[in-house]
Amino acid sequence: MSSQKPSLVDSIFQDDEQEAFRDHIGTVDSAGKRIWVYPKKPEGFFTKWRDIVSIILLIALFGMPFIRIDGEPLFLLNILERRFVLFGQPFTPQDFHLFVFAMITMIVFIILFTVVFGRIFCGWICPQTIFMENVFRKIEYWIEGDANAQKRLNAAKWDGKKAWKKGLKYTLFFAVSWVIANTFLAYIIGSDQVIQIISEPISMHVGGFIAMLIFSGVFYFVFAYMREQVCLVVCPYGRLQGVLLDRDSIVVAYDFVRGEPRTRIKKAKLAETLTEDAPKIGDCIDCKLCVQVCPTGIDIRNGTQLECINCTACIDVCDAVMDKVDRPRGLIRYDSYNTIAEGKKRRFTTRMAAYSIVLLLLIGLEVFLINHRSQIETLILRTPGMRYQKVDDEHLSNLYNYEVVNKTNKEYQQIHFKLVEMDGEIKLVGKEPTLGKSGQASGSFFIVLEKDDLHGQKNPIFIEVYADGELIEKVKTNFMGPIK
Ligand code: SF4
Ligand code: SF4
Repeated sequence: MSSQKPSLVDSIFQDDEQEAFRDHIGTVDSAGKRIWVYPKKPEGFFTKWRDIVSIILLIALFGMPFIRIDGEPLFLLNILERRFVLFGQPFTPQDFHLFVFAMITMIVFIILFTVVFGRIFCGWICPQTIFMENVFRKIEYWIEGDANAQKRLNAAKWDGKKAWKKGLKYTLFFAVSWVIANTFLAYIIGSDQVIQIISEPISMHVGGFIAMLIFSGVFYFVFAYMREQVCLVVCPYGRLQGVLLDRDSIVVAYDFVRGEPRTRIKKAKLAETLTEDAPKIGDCIDCKLCVQVCPTGIDIRNGTQLECINCTACIDVCDAVMDKVDRPRGLIRYDSYNTIAEGKKRRFTTRMAAYSIVLLLLIGLEVFLINHRSQIETLILRTPGMRYQKVDDEHLSNLYNYEVVNKTNKEYQQIHFKLVEMDGEIKLVGKEPTLGKSGQASGSFFIVLEKDDLHGQKNPIFIEVYADGELIEKVKTNFMGPIK
């Protein structure tokens, strides 16, 4: 580690004692007991825009399971039946490599995005933050009031009023958890199935009903009890911040150059601090409102911390304070360490460039693979354990198994196999197969060839596959003959 460059925290604090906050998380006391966080209700520019973005994302999340494209859902991730639909396009287990590439692309994207923009994802897009801060917390504020009223209610003795408020809150929490659980279930088994489970007698869908209850219980536990602990101790993305963020990453940051030395001032003496000959003091008036609004219970003035989910509440509250004390807004803002500490302009670093190139290559490869994905995939294999059979003195036959997978929403009435580049005959066992939407067909056929056309034990042959008269693919396989 470089000894010249102080860390963000070093630049604010000079002794170890003041770094003690890094030894524990802010929501656990010295006895290891959880400290319940009662964040003050935030309001301001960023809060308003986060509300708007949340509403749009919530509408999208709850609405998407009901959108159909050519009869297929927009998204379906049915792991149980191995049925996957992305943007209305069915994907089969044969497309697994596309999923692997998509996952790698997504991970690289997350890394790149985090290097450049820090944890903006957590504050603006993450479902955990959106549900916690914009749904459950809002219900809580509505029923129990702001932070102080909540503390008072929790400390109060049980009476009718407390029982009513707590009962109403937790009933609504469970109802919302149930809606969320059903929505997530709709992404797995499809909205039609979820509606069936809800509308038909429980006895007809015992498994589905139990799944609904379990999902609802998990969401209820997360939002009623776990809350910020999910971000602090469970979420792997949060744990990765230490290696992803650098001094050029944009984070919610306190401008310690401008803010220090923080100085408490009385309203009556405010004017004196603004005169030209007043002693130099920092812009932070140490009101601690930024700590009081923080849903993860941290003090952003200590520097970038893993617990910060970039919710922007501290930016809004500090801007309101700055307005009141006639100082410029932005003491807490989206910015990078280097910009604050050294007044440098933001720059596009080598790491950002390298990540961008890798990301573009991966996206290009993914688009190429999806565009060249076969609509119908055929697998033709010689039946294991079978040798060639003698048909007559001049002809031999081999038995093959075939499997045709339809990756489209179309139905095909006739799948036809044609031997090419060689004289011979394909004799199907049974009728020509048909293919339903996203369905598959399997069966067997014999291939009969003239002995004289064979060169030895292994003879490559080619079979064209036609779906309703349209050539779909050309498959290579082998014909087994006698040793020559
Ligand atoms: S809200 Fe602003 S002024 Fe108040 S303590 Fe936080 S940083 Fe300082
Ligand atoms: S430090 Fe600020 S942005 Fe980070 S979680 Fe707390 S209130 Fe939100």
